[in-house]
Parts: sequence; C-alpha cells; structure tokens
Amino acid sequence: MYITTTIPYVNARPHLGHALELVQADVLARHHRRRGEPVRFQTGTDDNSLKNVLAAEAAGVPVRELVDRNAAAFEGLRGPLDLSFDSFIRTSAHPGHRPGVERVWRATAHDLYTRHYEGLYCVGCEQFYPQGPCPDGHEAPLQPVSEVNWFFRLSRYRDALLDLIGGGRLRVEPAARRNEVLAFLRAGLDDISVSRSAARARGWGIPVPGDPGQVVYVWWDALANYVTALGGGDYERWWEREARKVHLVGKGVIRFHAVYWPAMLLSAGLPLPTAIFVHDYLTADGRKISKSSGNAADPVTLVDAYGVDAVRWWLLREVPRVGDADFTEARLVARADQDLAGGLGNLVSRVAVMVGRFLDGHVPPAGEPLAEVAEPVHEALEDFDFRRAAGAVWRLVAEANKFVELTRPWQQDTAGRERSLGTLVHACRALAVQLEPFLPTAAARVAAAVGGTRLSRSEPLFPRLGEGRAP
Ligand SMILES: [Zn+2]
Repeated sequence: MYITTTIPYVNARPHLGHALELVQADVLARHHRRRGEPVRFQTGTDDNSLKNVLAAEAAGVPVRELVDRNAAAFEGLRGPLDLSFDSFIRTSAHPGHRPGVERVWRATAHDLYTRHYEGLYCVGCEQFYPQGPCPDGHEAPLQPVSEVNWFFRLSRYRDALLDLIGGGRLRVEPAARRNEVLAFLRAGLDDISVSRSAARARGWGIPVPGDPGQVVYVWWDALANYVTALGGGDYERWWEREARKVHLVGKGVIRFHAVYWPAMLLSAGLPLPTAIFVHDYLTADGRKISKSSGNAADPVTLVDAYGVDAVRWWLLREVPRVGDADFTEARLVARADQDLAGGLGNLVSRVAVMVGRFLDGHVPPAGEPLAEVAEPVHEALEDFDFRRAAGAVWRLVAEANKFVELTRPWQQDTAGRERSLGTLVHACRALAVQLEPFLPTAAARVAAAVGGTRLSRSEPLFPRLGEGRAP
C-alpha cells in the first residue's frame, strides 16, 4: 500500500492539525506492515507556495531560509510523534521533483493553452474566486490579477471523473465527501489556470517548460509530488503496479485531490490513486487552528509536556471519522489518565503483581482469549475509522479489567489462579501486539512488562498526567 499525506506549505511551524493527518497515516502504515504487506508511507512539504514567499517577506528573511527552517520542523515531527514514514519530499529540494513536474506538464500539453485572465486571487487558498471575500475565511482582501496564464482543460474530464468516483473505482471517503465531489462535478467544470507570472511569484517556484515568464501553479506542482518523489524503480513499483494508493487529505483540499489531480493524471495517461480519505478539522479551545492565528497547538510542545502516547491516543481515540473535533489540554489529560494510566497501565501492573505474588513470577500457560480484536481493528481501518479501531483495541482492556473483578484471582485456589492469570497474561500480550500501530512505544513497554517466562513487578507504565502537572 502506498500511503501519502498532503504536503503542507511551510509559511509557519506545524500545528496539531498536521499531526492528526500524519498520525492517521502512520497507523495505516504500521497496520499494513505488520500484516506483512509492502508499504510505502510518504509525506513532505510544499516549499513552492506563494504563501511561503509572503511569510518570508513579512518576517524579513530570505525565502530559502524560512522554507528550510519550517520544512525542518515538519520533518522533525518524526521523532516526537513516533512516525514511521519511509520518504519525506521537499518540493524545492528533492532532485526528482522539478523534472517530474516538467514531465507531467509536457504529458498534458494537449490540454494546455494560454489565455488572458482576470480574476480575484486568494493567497491564503492559492486559488481564484469570482468574487470576494474568500469563502474559506481568509481575511486578506482578494488580489485582482490580470495576466496571461496557462489553462488546463479540466472541463474535458468531468464525465470520466463522475464515472470513476461515482462507480467507486476512485474511492472517496467518507460518503458525504464523495457526494460533495459528485455534486461539484455535476454542476460542471471550468478550465483552470495552472500558471502565474513569475513576477507575481517573485521568481519562486518551477518555471513553465518553454515559458520562463510563468511559473507552474503551486497546486499543480504540489500534487505532482505523489509521483515525482518516486525515483528510480519506485515509480513503477509504487504508482504503476501498486494496487492500493491512498491519499489522506483535509476537507479543505478535497477538490484539488479528487478533481484536479485525477484529471491531471488522466490527461497525462498515468494511473490514478485508488482511495482518498478526507478528514475534518481540529479546533483548539473552540477556535480554528491555523498557523497564523496564534492559538496553534504545537505538537512538539504537547509531546514534551504529556508524552507521545497521550498525544497520539487523543488524536486516535477522540477524533471522529466525520465532524470536527475540539482539542483542549484538559481533554488530552483526562483521556490519557482514564485509558492509559487507569485502564491499560493498571491492568498490566495488576497482572504482573499477581503473577509475582501467587505464581512466584512464573507465567502460566496462555489461557482463553477474551475478545477478538484483530479483525474489528482491520475492518475499522479499511473504513479509515481510526476512532473505531482504537475503540476496538480498548474493548480488550475493558474486558480484561472486568475479568479481574469477576474472577478475583486473589480469592481463587491455585488451579483457578493459574487459569485466570493465564488468560490475563495472554490478553496483555495481545494488547501489546494490537496497540503497536496506535502507540508504538507504549506497546513496546507493555510487551516488555508481560513478555518472557517470568514476570516481575514493573514501574508504572504511564504517568498520571492530571496530578499537579502543567506544561
Ligand atoms: Zn482563501
């Protein structure tokens, strides 16, 4: 499976919304890897956005400096968030990107033409609108633009896209998002501008092949990353031959991914992705998280304060498949204390203590499994329902804790204790396996605590976060 995230523009440091998409993609990648499937998980940054240029001007630093610094912050999420991406593409630095964009451009030449264009451009969205204000809420007034641009015959691909998406060959999930795309297609497609004057772009970006006065529209440039980052034999392996190619995207960029990108590929005669999963947005303390609004929850700060398990767990266990989710530190702490310190940590430590006290640490033979977890997790992840998948793992924690209360091994005879503790050790080991895609470091700690043939009393697996700690 080839799994990609969108590549964010780098006018500022990453926020929790980026962490959400990266962690979701990471869960998919880890899940499919452990099933023995070949996986390529790719992310990166959109360095060529005009927004980066304007942010650098506002900050009074060279564009290259700002882009390098912020792109490094995105790539640097890997350690703190326990991400397992195989490839990180920076569109201004990857050696294959510019030639790749030029190849896609040339392959679509039969659908490209020049036209004088007048329109209102939102730099926040990097797109034109017929009138202001920006429907996405950007406050800066739209810029009137009048110039000769290259246009792409998007209108030509309307019927083919209706067919592909309506017929399910290109899956768009959840269903409401698919319907949104279909409604957009049914309303008809206009051709789109796919270049801008190099002067307006301040010379930043990829020049249009054969027309150096224009640079390639940043969305065209950015979308191409899904194929341009595949150098050498990787392109054939992961784009031509791979049966499952999944893009994870936010709801704000659905049109680019479900309409423009497949149309570009159809025009170029290239294979299409197979699925697009659209997540909604996070708010923080009830407000939109954005890089410029100043309330951005910084994922690295959160990991420093609460640990990676608590941050990943909140993103996976609390964010619904459909609908926005509101982040607060209080919710993160409550969820971690209830589930991790309370539910899982408590279970593992009770089991280890009882095996130590009653069986002198000797692990009894594995007993009956308590709840089937692997299949419900897999089914939920096939639906891109991360919360349901995390919930399926959690059922086993709940069942095992219930089992302790029900059997009360401390009141049983020796044979009864051995049976009960055998079941519980088995459940804890199954949890270590099932948790790995969601909480890789916690899973390793659980595995260490209940692995081997002799158990000893272990340190608490998870700290209590709510007790007098503040970031
Ligand atoms: Zn806008």
